[in-house]
Amino acid sequence: MKKLFIKSYGCQMNVYDAGRMADALAPEGFIETADPADADVVILNTCHIREKAAEKVYSELGRVRRIKQERAGAGRDTKVVVAGCVAQAEGAEILRRAPVVDVVVGPQSYHRLPALMKRAERERGVVDTEFPVEDKFDHLPLAPRPKLRARGVSAFLTIQEGCDKFCTFCVVPYTRGAEVSRPVAKVVAEAERLAEAGVREITVIGQNVNAYHGEGPDGATWSLGRLLRRLAEVPCVARLRYTTSHPRDMDDDLIAAHAELPALMPYLHLPVQAGSDRILEAMNRRHTADDYRRIVERVRSARPDIALSSDFIVGFPGETEEDFAETLRLVEEVGFASAFSFKYSPRPGTPGAELDGQVPEEVKAERLQRLQALLEEQRQAFNRGTVGRTVDVLLEKPGRHPGQLAGKTPYLQAVQIEGGGRAIGDLVPVRILRAGSNSLFGEPAGGPALTAAA
Ligand code: SF4
Repeated sequence: MKKLFIKSYGCQMNVYDAGRMADALAPEGFIETADPADADVVILNTCHIREKAAEKVYSELGRVRRIKQERAGAGRDTKVVVAGCVAQAEGAEILRRAPVVDVVVGPQSYHRLPALMKRAERERGVVDTEFPVEDKFDHLPLAPRPKLRARGVSAFLTIQEGCDKFCTFCVVPYTRGAEVSRPVAKVVAEAERLAEAGVREITVIGQNVNAYHGEGPDGATWSLGRLLRRLAEVPCVARLRYTTSHPRDMDDDLIAAHAELPALMPYLHLPVQAGSDRILEAMNRRHTADDYRRIVERVRSARPDIALSSDFIVGFPGETEEDFAETLRLVEEVGFASAFSFKYSPRPGTPGAELDGQVPEEVKAERLQRLQALLEEQRQAFNRGTVGRTVDVLLEKPGRHPGQLAGKTPYLQAVQIEGGGRAIGDLVPVRILRAGSNSLFGEPAGGPALTAAA
């Protein structure tokens, strides 16, 4: 057996892609290892969203080079692969700056990985960053059940990739290409395979997941709402989630699905990015702050207990103190259960990087601090609001202390309970006893109290 080590950075799409790369290489005799020094193939599955992403990859490659040298000293060969969005953005430049790399492969070409690995046996430095016409999902095998990459009870399933929105701060349309949706039959078949492998919660993912428009078995174009209704019929799948959504694509059908489907969890990650219409326009978001407020109102009237999450960028070029105050106002009005917030940092090749009025670092840092303090207050308040309630918890893994199990509420909050006869994969009603800073603590309804310290 040959060993494969994959390190994934960034979004859920990359976590999913790592699984599919492992599945693609499994028929070639590869099994995964958690130790890069033990690996015949090391894959860095990179992300381009964060600042200095490429530089971080190059410094990681320095560490991989040392491992490769040590293994070569012991007579063992190591192939090094750079995959993901940095591979797509940098291409052959990676081979020039890091000769340790054998293969550079973009996200649209993972199905070709076995062939690229074989080419790398004969050639120095192989690059594949094309956007091929064939559907990579058709060519990516889903390994037979015993070999299916261990995904636990909660798994991601890609249903859509790419983006046509061109927000001016974002590299995704350039690294992942135009929006493509997978046909319904393929998504359902993959969901069934995951369920057979013991998965009880499926999060369908896409860079613009609610723009989903896959071909249905009836020849019609299916929306995300319709797809979720079909996935809710897959036996053994108890929970469905989706991410990441764009406000412009929150249609009535999807909102109605939240009211109708018990399996669709009451949690919505809906990035707004900013609360000022002027800044939203400069970001090319093509929605206003009031549009966002109206969507939240509609979603809440369909599912009153829904937990909302969002992304924020502070200090976009031209953002004034008044613009930033609009963001704070929106946060105060909406109320979020969780959120991701970042300082704007220019991405080479995006229109935002060329804009005048770049905001000084210290101003961005100070605004981010204020925004995060407010969001953290809201997160803690939301968690405290769950104390005393009984909620279903899907048990996902061992807890922090022996005998404990950890899982998630419908609102995606982490919970620790005493195991006591329950198993990973069980869906258990849990009474929440208290809220720690990052986890809730509870007892199975009618079960023993959790005694360990937070
Ligand atoms: S909608 Fe999302 S993925 Fe698409 S360009 Fe905007 S931020 Fe990037």
